[in-house]
Amino acid sequence: MNLAQAIVGAPGARQRRAIAKAITLLESTRGDHRAQADELLTELLPHTGKAFRLGISGVPGVGKSTFIEALGLYLIAQGHRVAVLAIDPSSTVSGGSILGDKTRMEHLSVHAQAYIRPSPSSGTLGGVAAKTRESMLVCEAAGYDVVIVETVGVGQSETAVAGMTDMFVLMQLPNAGDDLQAIKKGVMELADLVVINKADLDPDAATRARAQITSALRILGQHGNPDHAHHDATLWHPQVLQLSALKVQGVEAFWQAVGEFRRLQEAGGRLQSRRKHQALAWMWERIDSGLKRAFRQAPAVKALLPQLTNEVEHGLLAASTAARRLLDAMHEGTRGG
Ligand code: GDP
Repeated sequence: MNLAQAIVGAPGARQRRAIAKAITLLESTRGDHRAQADELLTELLPHTGKAFRLGISGVPGVGKSTFIEALGLYLIAQGHRVAVLAIDPSSTVSGGSILGDKTRMEHLSVHAQAYIRPSPSSGTLGGVAAKTRESMLVCEAAGYDVVIVETVGVGQSETAVAGMTDMFVLMQLPNAGDDLQAIKKGVMELADLVVINKADLDPDAATRARAQITSALRILGQHGNPDHAHHDATLWHPQVLQLSALKVQGVEAFWQAVGEFRRLQEAGGRLQSRRKHQALAWMWERIDSGLKRAFRQAPAVKALLPQLTNEVEHGLLAASTAARRLLDAMHEGTRGG
């Protein structure tokens, strides 16, 4: 039985092994593995798309793993199968990991109806994000009907996660100022839902934070960058919920809000158009990065680059002229052989 058949086949130990094998293949940098991975994805694609893709982001310590554990167990009790994937931007910079090593989601991780995969551990953020999107497709083909993609709220990874999920949730602490950071970084306007965790610690602070974030979202909704504001004001106003992941309070209300969002998206045809848009953006992102790599590897470019870089640095050549010469050099190289 081939890998694709084992993945779309019955849940169980064999399926689990096949998923792990497939994801390892996707994450490999070897050329022959890449070709096999592409073939596998093509086989799996007709079996994908039925899951709900939920993105969750927040600073380290906000309670993401505690929340995902509580949510995952709640969903499994409702008959769902839950996959959790992670994008850890720290691993792409340092090879270290913010999300990785500690034992996370103790009960969920051993549950037969859950599949948890840590972040790919190396590569550029774009590369890591691409592998995670592909892993998501594998999990969907295996019948996981809720796929959670988690990321740490540092760097650009929130944009990547919002760009591959049906709904993007931002987790916040009940501190004043925390929300300002998210606004500054442009993350708040990506959020379809904001949850304030650890409401049990200081209910008054959580209530104040909720009011602040609600009004911030309203202002962003009115004045935000229309390119980022994928919300239609007549359809969905991003909600702000309070919860306690540790005490498992507010999980059900959270899932209700997700369901409401999902119904509105599906009814308006927005879910499909968001996914189409994401798939094309993904294709172009990969083309851009592939072209850049090919450009840097082209012999003619390699030969010219040091000298032209030097000339631009010393003001002897306009940056745009240098760029044009290098691009021409690459094209000549391609035509020549
Ligand atoms: P992550 O880094 O975002 O994954 O955060 P964790 O889930 O590891 O949580 C960080 C710490 O906050 C842990 O000690 C949790 O037990 C604690 N924590 C998480 N959620 C809550 C909550 O709702 N209330 C309280 N009081 N503590 C929480």
